[in-house]
Amino acid sequence: MIYIFEVSILNICYRWKNSKTINVEEYKKVYKGHMEEKTLMLWGDKRYNNLSQFFKNKFGQKIFKVSINGGFSCPNRDGSIGIKGCIFCSEEGSGEFAGSVNLSIGEQFKEVKEKLSKKWNNAKYIAHFQSFTNTYAPVNVLRDKYYQAIKEDNVVGLAIATRPDCIGNDVLELLDEINQKTYLFVELGLQTINENTAKLINRGYDLACFEDAVKRLRTKNIDVVVHLILGLPNETKQDILNSIKFISNMDIQGVKLHLLYIVKGTPIEELYQKGKFKLLEMQEYVDLICDCIENLREDIVIHRLTGDGKKETLVGPKWSLDKMRVLSAIDRELKNRDTYQGRLA
Ligand code: SF4
Repeated sequence: MIYIFEVSILNICYRWKNSKTINVEEYKKVYKGHMEEKTLMLWGDKRYNNLSQFFKNKFGQKIFKVSINGGFSCPNRDGSIGIKGCIFCSEEGSGEFAGSVNLSIGEQFKEVKEKLSKKWNNAKYIAHFQSFTNTYAPVNVLRDKYYQAIKEDNVVGLAIATRPDCIGNDVLELLDEINQKTYLFVELGLQTINENTAKLINRGYDLACFEDAVKRLRTKNIDVVVHLILGLPNETKQDILNSIKFISNMDIQGVKLHLLYIVKGTPIEELYQKGKFKLLEMQEYVDLICDCIENLREDIVIHRLTGDGKKETLVGPKWSLDKMRVLSAIDRELKNRDTYQGRLA
């Protein structure tokens, strides 16, 4: 009870400081008493456990993620596992909005900071190694790059996106070391638990490999964020919900739910142009994502709910470019259903 009271007071103070009137009874009405006060206060004004509020609760202010290109490769592209890569993966290694590989880590940071400092004084950052496989290099190279990022001014944490088959024991030891110095989470690209789909998308590892990586990361108390893609070829709604339920039963701390979008020049574009599968319509996606949210354990933080393609290279669906519209439609649908994250988990 003391904890609930403290959380409520903290949130009320936070909102008062930000010139918004907060009324706990109003909140209870919005959520119709379904959820514990503790949970609803932690989620801010959303019906799901969202990253932005999670960061505010954890760090006491807004946090910006800075996508860094560390210049890494990927074993699914360089021939160690495969040469074609995952069929949806772009030339940028699924890091379209990361900094330029031609700039040092410090220079990439400087670019972002200069833009943000005009709008936000004293902004704080999570450095996000996003493009390609960010644990795929000798451990001394990794150490050097990770430390360069966390030593930048106002960096409060590190996010590392990688494959579960690229976390050897030496890498795990390094991640453990970093985790003791700063806030760290490791992102693993699972996409689906369906092994047939995994083969079709040329993922290059099996589910057991993913489960093993999660267990090993958790022995070091490292937070794990899992990527899933909604709308992969041949996948039914039940397949997608199976993936959601599977990860909901694992010791993971976050999830990124991506809409499948097609980037020009990728192998999946060829399948799409041949009419082998259809892309989701916006309302279909909104319905599906709300089903996922209802079936996702409530303490798992949702880092992403949409696709994030670049306009210049996006084949479709074009509606995904208007992210705010998609997010508003998701909020509206959750409200219409009078539901929230974890209601069916
Ligand atoms: S593992 Fe990541 S970087 Fe490598 S091919 Fe797949 S999506 Fe691209």
